[in-house]
Amino acid sequence: MGIMPPKTILVVEDEKDILQLVKLYLEKEGFRVVTAMTGLEGLKQVAQEQPHLVVLDLMLPEMNGLDVCKRIRAKTETAMLPIIMLTAKAEESDTVIGLELGADDYVTKPFSPKALTARVKALLRRMERTSTADTGQYYYGPLTMDLGRHEVRLGQDEIPLTAKEFGLLEHLLQHPGRVLTRDVLLNTVWGYDYFGTTRTVDVHIRRLKQKLPLLEDAIVSVKSLGYKLKEPAGNV
Ligand code: CA
Repeated sequence: MGIMPPKTILVVEDEKDILQLVKLYLEKEGFRVVTAMTGLEGLKQVAQEQPHLVVLDLMLPEMNGLDVCKRIRAKTETAMLPIIMLTAKAEESDTVIGLELGADDYVTKPFSPKALTARVKALLRRMERTSTADTGQYYYGPLTMDLGRHEVRLGQDEIPLTAKEFGLLEHLLQHPGRVLTRDVLLNTVWGYDYFGTTRTVDVHIRRLKQKLPLLEDAIVSVKSLGYKLKEPAGNV
């Protein structure tokens, strides 16, 4: 009774020793671990095993970690999948790119398996926290979104939003700190059968910022990829 099924972690790493070591440590912590040694194999495992989190090496044969990350983020089903990237010190600029492309965290090689395990747990906890919207309310600074009443308030004032603006904001508030691609936003808010272009998303983000100026700096555009709502202060 009350026993939670183990969470599945996918580890994608082409160095066998590191792969085995990470697997061992994560299993010791009660995780179910599936592995892949190339980028393509990793993507296959994501689809097959539906892991709760991916530990992804940056330098991989066939397809590097950045491209794997990009592919994962581009699909609606896996857009929110937590990713921790493994990088080497010399690849620090790639680390930055990795985070911009939507990795949630990164660990620099050489690392202690214990430290990595701690990061895995921390990230899973963070995801759980942002995904429990049982109350039907989101808060972001002075902003309140009430899903039940279909209301957005800034302090006491109700801010009228169109259905799409409301949907966009809901999605952003649901996933603070995550990069949401235009395609994913378009599919989630407008639906798969919508024939608009991703420019539609830009236009609505702009309108949202006009109606709620506090979002001007809070919603950041991420290169050619999409948007991210900065995590609210004090939530780290
Ligand atoms: Ca490697």
